This record gives sequence, structure tokens and C-alpha cells, in this order.
Amino acid sequence: MSLSFDEIVALDAAHVMQTYGRAPVAFVRGEGTVLWDADGRRYLDFLSGLAVTSLGHAHPAVADAVAAQARTLLHVSNLYYNEVQPQVAARLDALLGGGGRVFFANSGAEANECAIKLARRYGQTHGGPERFHVISASGSFHGRTLTTLAATGQPQKQETFQPLPTGFRQVAFGDLDALAAVMDERVCAVMLEPVQGEGGVMPCPPGYLEAVRALCDEREALLLLDEVQTGLGRTGAWFGFEHTGARPDVVSMAKALGNGVPIGACWARADVAAAFRPGDHATTFGGQPLAAAAALATLTVMADLDVPARAAAAGATLTAALEAVPGVAGVRGLGLLIAAELEPGIAAKPVADACLTAGLVVNAVTGTALRLAPPLLVTDAEIEEAVAILATVLAAAERDDAAAPSEGSGW
Ligand SMILES: *Cc1c(COP(=O)(O)O)cnc(C)c1O
Repeated sequence: MSLSFDEIVALDAAHVMQTYGRAPVAFVRGEGTVLWDADGRRYLDFLSGLAVTSLGHAHPAVADAVAAQARTLLHVSNLYYNEVQPQVAARLDALLGGGGRVFFANSGAEANECAIKLARRYGQTHGGPERFHVISASGSFHGRTLTTLAATGQPQKQETFQPLPTGFRQVAFGDLDALAAVMDERVCAVMLEPVQGEGGVMPCPPGYLEAVRALCDEREALLLLDEVQTGLGRTGAWFGFEHTGARPDVVSMAKALGNGVPIGACWARADVAAAFRPGDHATTFGGQPLAAAAALATLTVMADLDVPARAAAAGATLTAALEAVPGVAGVRGLGLLIAAELEPGIAAKPVADACLTAGLVVNAVTGTALRLAPPLLVTDAEIEEAVAILATVLAAAERDDAAAPSEGSGW
């Protein structure tokens, strides 16, 4: 049954669309922060499947909930009720302050599709047929469907897929004047990440989200926050916006919601959500019993263990440890969504590759920075071990003054 690494690579090359630049490892098992590969080697997972497995691999409460649900009822159509979906919606709404409604999807991009369609629908009913434009930020990442790609502020990802849906425009991240200059009556929404994840772990500048909120109120546009990566404890709060005084109208989330089981969600203020009429939006799988059971178990464990507070504490520990590593020039981020900017001349990609060989999973989020996003239950001992591996790798790293700051992981 189990394949060797070479057999896995050969099968992949022959049968899988070659859209990923994969690292030369196949993981077969995980527990907490630890992963094992096809050859039995052990790794510390400081990436969590890109901020997905926030409770760690094979968390017993999530595994039990998934197994029990699988034996009870995996799926029914959204043409019928299921008892799990509204319970998850109630939990999420409570976390977001109450008074909202939730639509369930299967991924981050789909949660954002819902947010964009809802904003267009709301804009039409409140401002007229021309109010459908969405402004987002350069350097942002909102997904790979055509519409979320149009919202993504990374021209190199968009070029090969022109023409993209119209009605999207990007302005410089953190530049309020640039935003104000394009906010006319055709704009239905501004879409932002509290911390740009794929864009290099860039937190919003202080005061920016609050000022965008005020501008949205003044110009009658919705504030959509893409919390697909930042949401559900990752930044040391339930949601990234809680670090600011701004309150959004719409929030999308996904990555950590099912602790590895695919599920996305879009929350909106009830009066905004009311712009959707039955039949306006739908999905076959979104909020099905299996995915919803995983989400309910994940949210329960997160609340019981006060996981956001643990992420804040572990984030402070990891940040301090990284700052002391020779070769690390600076550390940025919030909670356990962290980038370590390397000293000039050290390229991040070879360092990430060498870390993997040495048993530490991190990724090069830009050409010169590593992203660290371990499970939120990571222990101090695991942080110490991971940082020691990174220090050893950096001590041996080649320095080349031509290291390109713009080349990242290619995600
Ligand atoms: C990962 C991510 C997405 C896309 O999520 P998928 O599940 O890959 O579609 C969207 N927005 C942000 C901020 C993300 O980090």
C-alpha cells in the first residue's frame, strides 16, 4: 500500500497537473507540531499547511468528531437543513460580536467570492447598477479563482489569465490618500487583509484600518476583511481586526476553520447579508455535515483552551527567539503569523530548503523573508528546537549581495 518517495514523485509527474513547485518531500503522518515523511524522517511543522492545522496534526477532538460524523451522515444537500451547519454559524457570529449571518463555502477563495458577490448585490440595491467596483491593495492575496485573482494585487499572477472580470482595482497598501482618490460612488467595497499573508506577512500600518473604516462610511462602501489566513486565533486574537479599532461589515475566513478539513465561511452584518435572496448564491458542499463537524470541534477546542491567548504568548516567545538569531535582520507579524527578514545577501528560498533537509518546515514568503506559522498550541520546547535548527542553517548560509527581494515561494 505505502509508496516510496520516488514512486510518489513518478506518479505525480505522470498524472498530476504540474502547477506547484513542490519541495522534495512527501509527508505521510502528523501529530501535533510533528510530521513524518515517507522515509520515516521527523520534521517540526512551522507552517501548519499554510496556517491551516492551527490545533496541530491529528488533533484527537477533531479526529473523533470527523470519524463520528463520517459514521453518521457525511453529506446532505443545502436543499435541506443539517443540524451541524447552523451551530457553526452561531459560534462564528458570536465570535464576531453577534447580529450577523454566515454563508459556508469550501475554501478561502470561495469565501471571498461570496463576499464579493454579496458586496455587489448590496451595492446594486443601495447605490444602483453602477455600484459594483471593489478596491483592494497591492501585494494582497485573495485567491486563485478568476474573480479573486482580479482582486489580488499581484500583477505577475494575473498576467497569464487576462482578461479578468472587470470592476477591480488595486491601490498602494497602507496609503489612505491613494484609496480616497479612487473611492467614488461606483465603489461597493474595499477589501483588505489585516496582515497581508502571501504578500510577505505585512501588518496594516497603525491607524490605517480605522481610517479606511471612516472612509467607507463616508463614501457608502462596505469594508470586507479577508481573514482567511489571519482569522481564528492566528494573530493572537480571534480575528486580526481585533488588534485595531475598526469593525468590518463582511469577514471571510477558511484556513484554520476545519483544522485541515476544507471549509470556508463568509460572515456579514445581517442587513448586508439580507441583500442575498434565496437562489442568489449556492454551493453543493459548503457547510455539509462532515466539514461543519470538523469546524464545530475546532472552534470548541479553540475556545476551551483560549487558543488566541496561547498564540499571542507563543508568538512573543518565537519573535524574541528569532530576533536573537544571527542572520535574522528583523521579525514582523502578529501572534503566530511571523516573517523573519534575513540579513542582506541571504536568499530565503535556499534557507527554507536547508531547513527542510534539517527537519524544519518553513517557507520563503518573499525572496528575503521566511514565514513561520506553527500550530497555535506549539510548545516552548518546540520553538526552541525550531529556532536552533534555523540558527544552524543560517550559520552555514551563503551570502550573495544579489539576492532578489521579490522572488518568493511562487504560491
Ligand atoms: C490562502 C488565502 C486565500 C485563498 O484560500 P484558498 O483556500 O487557497 O482558496 C485567500 N485569502 C487569503 C488572505 C489567503 O491567505
